[in-house]
Amino acid sequence: MVTIKIACRHCGSTNIACNGLTTNGKQRYLCADCGRRSRDNPQPNGYTAQERETILAAYHERSSLRGLTRCFGVARNTVSTWLKKSGDAAGVSRHARRPGRGRP
Ligand SMILES: [Zn+2]
Repeated sequence: MVTIKIACRHCGSTNIACNGLTTNGKQRYLCADCGRRSRDNPQPNGYTAQERETILAAYHERSSLRGLTRCFGVARNTVSTWLKKSGDAAGVSRHARRPGRGRP
């Protein structure tokens, strides 16, 4: 019999059950005690802080979002999410629609 020795990373309980796979193919677990989900070797997906700094620095050199996509392969949505999180509302509105265009 195989016993899986994994503890919930939220509450430390070992009372967890397999709960399908994550999008990148890792096993996902569901904690029976706190009801939260965890996975093997959790790691942040996406970009490191260093990569994000580089890309945002390029953006602040007045590179366009489409230009960043061509240079770094980063999705425009990703960059605009970072800008919103960093509170750079001016940077986002620079690319916003002009009033009077688009939907009424
Ligand atoms: Zn738990």
